Amino acid sequence: MNLLLFEPAELSGGRLVIADRRAHHLRTVLGVQVGDSIRAGELGGRAGNARIVNDDGSAYTLEVTLEGAAPGPWDVELVLAVPRPKVITRTLEIAASFAVKRIDLTNAWRVDKSYLRSPRLDPAAMALAARFGAEQGATTHIPTITLHDRLMALLHDRFAAPAGLRLVAHPSAPPIEKAIARVEPTVLAIGPEGGWIDRELETLVARGFTPVSLGAPILRVEAAVASALGQLSLLQRLRA
Ligand code: SAM
Repeated sequence: MNLLLFEPAELSGGRLVIADRRAHHLRTVLGVQVGDSIRAGELGGRAGNARIVNDDGSAYTLEVTLEGAAPGPWDVELVLAVPRPKVITRTLEIAASFAVKRIDLTNAWRVDKSYLRSPRLDPAAMALAARFGAEQGATTHIPTITLHDRLMALLHDRFAAPAGLRLVAHPSAPPIEKAIARVEPTVLAIGPEGGWIDRELETLVARGFTPVSLGAPILRVEAAVASALGQLSLLQRLRA
């Protein structure tokens, strides 16, 4: 946890009292003590510092000082074919740690239909994954996560009109650096373990998505998400 996140309603008179998993993490992983300061942030709001002013053995009391304006989310949206259940949570955490604006998880032709019944897709489980990711990435932004049972309907409903840059990761496509000329709102689509089928790629292209490669190695979905977001972030910094 690189940022202690709290709900605005938890703060009372500039003080925060925590006795849940966050306190457990502070105690057992970070080993914080009275007098120590840690980074803290209000969900969807500003970040700052929190000084430990009391520890009764189970609950910590922290004095919170928030700084400046809240940094916005990274203007990047992820369209993600539902990966194998074992990595759903981890993949959402990775994306949230990059402070992406939103994540549209979607069915696709090569998504094993049993994956869609995974308890890891329960809204509460996905919200917790997003929160863990934000704590890791030290961002106060929690992405909106929506699950779609039809890719074609998602593409029709959300991407009918052209806007910003749209990329679809596909191993045999031209390299991603060729597609990024400037910093602009970006949508990035990552396919299922078996890859996109031709008809899906054609529809994505018809909706303005440019196929891009992330390099020669063909990566599993969770690695492709991390790699794609890392490459996009670097290319945006280089073009800024
Ligand atoms: N055999 C599949 C194919 O050729 O599409 C491999 C699919 S890969 C395991 C899962 C998804 O990760 C792909 O659909 C793509 O979106 C993304 N991906 C993985 N490695 C990639 C790479 N080197 N370049 C672009 N996209 C990649």
